[in-house]
Amino acid sequence: MANLRIPGPTPIPDNVREALSAQMINHRGPEYAALLGRVTEGLRPFFRTEHDILIYTCSGTGVMEAAIVNTLSPGDRVLAVSIGSFGDRFGTIAEVYGADVTRLNVEWGMAAEPDVVGAALRAAPGYKAVLITHNETSTGVENPIEAIAEVVHAESDALLLVDAVSSMGCVPVETDAWGLDLIVTGSQKGWEVPPGLAMAAVGPRAWQAFESATMPRFYLDLGKHRDYAAIGQPPWTPAVSVMYGLDVSLKRMNEEGADAIFARHAAAAARVRGQMEALGLQLFADPRYASNTITAVSVPDGVDGKALTATMREEHDVVIAGGQGKLAGQIIRFGHLGWFQQRDLDEAVEALRASLITLGYQVPAAASV
Ligand SMILES: *Cc1c(COP(=O)(O)O)cnc(C)c1O
Repeated sequence: MANLRIPGPTPIPDNVREALSAQMINHRGPEYAALLGRVTEGLRPFFRTEHDILIYTCSGTGVMEAAIVNTLSPGDRVLAVSIGSFGDRFGTIAEVYGADVTRLNVEWGMAAEPDVVGAALRAAPGYKAVLITHNETSTGVENPIEAIAEVVHAESDALLLVDAVSSMGCVPVETDAWGLDLIVTGSQKGWEVPPGLAMAAVGPRAWQAFESATMPRFYLDLGKHRDYAAIGQPPWTPAVSVMYGLDVSLKRMNEEGADAIFARHAAAAARVRGQMEALGLQLFADPRYASNTITAVSVPDGVDGKALTATMREEHDVVIAGGQGKLAGQIIRFGHLGWFQQRDLDEAVEALRASLITLGYQVPAAASV
């Protein structure tokens, strides 16, 4: 079995794989209502919210779209803060639905500094919403979301819509305490289950916006998800099997404990960054904001990025990600999120070292894993 070190889908534990194969149930019956209740409460220690947590059957992009179409109207002014390709996507979704989008684009590899966001809000008051990525998976950068949220609420009345697809469940997120009005994540990143489900936490200010938002929506309607959740049902047929898996993974995650999981991710990320630097590789992210779920490094001069990922896959059965969009061929990305053992990560780093040598790279003499 390949050592899958991409930033999602991520490997899943054996007991989750077993749960996925269970027989179907009626998604409008009492067993499903109990399952939905357990899963929702199992998510709560990671979302850190007292408000609604709603479960969608779609990928992360679907629930990003849900965040927009349920809170905004065509013509609303939106500040789309982007530090990479997922941030760009968030802004594009808003544009597609007719929002008046102003883009605040930050150089890839850097974070959005709170004072820069504050200045953008002061420069053109009246934004209805700020869109932001918590952890930018394309560059391996984690935005300082707590400080950004503080600035957004101090400088404006804008709603804060947060894409936490690749961070929630892996790093601390204080949805209520930080004032994150609507925050979304996807099952295949930090949650130890396959793709198919996405989750949204919706606070009071987002519900208030929902009441008057006129963007078209049907499948993604938040109100339908809320009203059905109140009777223990999904509005539409859900990914029942992934729900079975999530029930099991959340039990495991809550046994490990949120704080222990966050510490495991932080420690693994620090170790990987050290290992990369020991190999003489340049970290792509601003070190002050390096992600704890994914590490991006520049492909060294003289090495072909495509050949590097291919060599790792073909000769070592280790699968890592290359760069997205304009970073294709320039960086490699190494996932350390969700369910992993330290040994998996160390073996992948060793495979990287061996593959670099195969491709003619001179590893610094001191480098050992
Ligand atoms: C993976 C990811 C998405 C998109 O999720 P899909 O499930 O592929 O639709 C969005 N944002 C971030 C930050 C991601 O890492």
